[in-house]
Amino acid sequence: MKDLNIVTGQTVAMPSAPYQARHFINGVYQDSVNGRTSTRMSPSHGVLVSEAALGGEAEVEAAITSARSAFDDGRWSRLSGKDRAAVLTKVADLIEENVEALALMETLESGKPIGQSRGECGGAADLWRYAASLARTSHGDSHNTLGADIMAVVLKEPIGVVSIITPWNFPFWILGQKLPFALAAGCTCVVKPSEMTPSTTAMLGDLLNRAGLPAGVCNIVLGYGAPVGSVMTTHKDVDMVTFTGSTAVGKLITKTAGDTLKKVALELGGKNPQVIFPNCDLENAADAVTFGIYFNVGQCCNSSSRIIVHEDIADAFVARVVEMSRRVAFGNPLNEATQVGAIVTDEHRAKIDGYVRDAVKAGAEVVLGGGGLTVDGVGSQFFEPTVVRGVTPDMAIAREEVFGPVLAVLTFRTLDQAIALANDATYGLSAGIWCDDIHTCLEFSRRVQAGTVWTNTWMDGFPEVAFGGVKQSGQGREIGSYGFDEFLEVKSLVMRIGRTRTPWVKQD
Ligand code: NAD
Repeated sequence: MKDLNIVTGQTVAMPSAPYQARHFINGVYQDSVNGRTSTRMSPSHGVLVSEAALGGEAEVEAAITSARSAFDDGRWSRLSGKDRAAVLTKVADLIEENVEALALMETLESGKPIGQSRGECGGAADLWRYAASLARTSHGDSHNTLGADIMAVVLKEPIGVVSIITPWNFPFWILGQKLPFALAAGCTCVVKPSEMTPSTTAMLGDLLNRAGLPAGVCNIVLGYGAPVGSVMTTHKDVDMVTFTGSTAVGKLITKTAGDTLKKVALELGGKNPQVIFPNCDLENAADAVTFGIYFNVGQCCNSSSRIIVHEDIADAFVARVVEMSRRVAFGNPLNEATQVGAIVTDEHRAKIDGYVRDAVKAGAEVVLGGGGLTVDGVGSQFFEPTVVRGVTPDMAIAREEVFGPVLAVLTFRTLDQAIALANDATYGLSAGIWCDDIHTCLEFSRRVQAGTVWTNTWMDGFPEVAFGGVKQSGQGREIGSYGFDEFLEVKSLVMRIGRTRTPWVKQD
């Protein structure tokens, strides 16, 4: 495509050698017992960027044993909130000191632009800082109205050993949505990053040691879904699984974890709509739609991969989004100016391509892009910014997670129609409305089936505000006090004051 804003030059240098990622078990970096490793080629540059130890049952068993004994002996779970907070705050400081190294690794393994990797890794420090504040302020409940001689308190206790499984699209950020909150609660953890992006998670091990986290409290095992992930979700010594990834794997985990009745928290896929009314700041809405579909190359659970535009403005609005799409800087992720980088794997690029072809076969019209893209001097694992019109609710492109820079456009006439279209999905992660009428915004927000609703904005998030999905987008919540509570068990303590209990057995 000729009239795209393609960035080719590189402003950040490649490291001189691939990173060697190793398991972090009981506070010590280690290779796999059998010496096996896996390699990762950069999606954007096609060169070897990391070599990671490839875990098997031996490593995951050792990690779970280590987390179990660290929990049971109380070295972390019985520490005061103040002491736990001090460690988490120190981790946040160390993340900030190491943002450049973390961000470069994140970009090399995922293909995302260096500026966004800095934002992701630096921003994660704030999640650790916020979780530290929760460690100090956590408390239960008291009941002082049960009667003159009785009182009850409800204690919150750490749930135990938590398995944390993360995907490749925001490896360091998503880890930050889980690990510091679990640690703040007093849990111990076993972490498995995606096999495609293991290195920033592995790098964190060193920061945890330097921050003074006791050995065994957080263990990191690198490897594939099977066997590492499957052992983490079925092992009898694990009390909870928190998983972010595809809905298919989430469903599988729910089934397999059921055998031991572990608690399961899931953050899964989305097909998130933005509804555009004529009476809104249309320029800002077009910008938010452009951001919502191309951020992280659309490989984002919160991607607004479908828009539902009022018929009266659909032509002009789509034309503006197309214009803006041409101005977004695509290309070399190691250039500071780049806004959109590479697709994570070539197979995934082919899958995105398939969705566009199927939509065209079904009668939709591609008004921008629609195919793969080679960036000179970088590589061919890119996909054009793509806008598809004439999409109907039955098409796969309107219902399934494309996970690429492909925007599906649907239209509506009435608020009821817009809500019906928005809710016509198996997912329910997030939704948005652009409208200057507060009543319409409120009505939409109450009736739309989504874990998060944005009005006149898109993808604003804060550590304080809970995040998660309804329907097949997941179960449970992350971040905020609700996310923190997921890692806590509740214990009720009922106490009699004085020898006032009425005997059950008839007295002589
Ligand atoms: P994925 O489900 O393929 O993999 C996620 C993780 O699960 C990886 O670490 C993988 O190794 C592991 N895994 C695979 N099989 C497993 C098994 N049988 N048992 C245990 N673990 C197993 O997902 P992905 O391709 O890495 O990520 C993309 C998906 O993640 C998309 O669907 C996206 O919407 C979703 N996601 C959701 C959120 C959210 O917060 N809702 C955030 C980011 C990504």
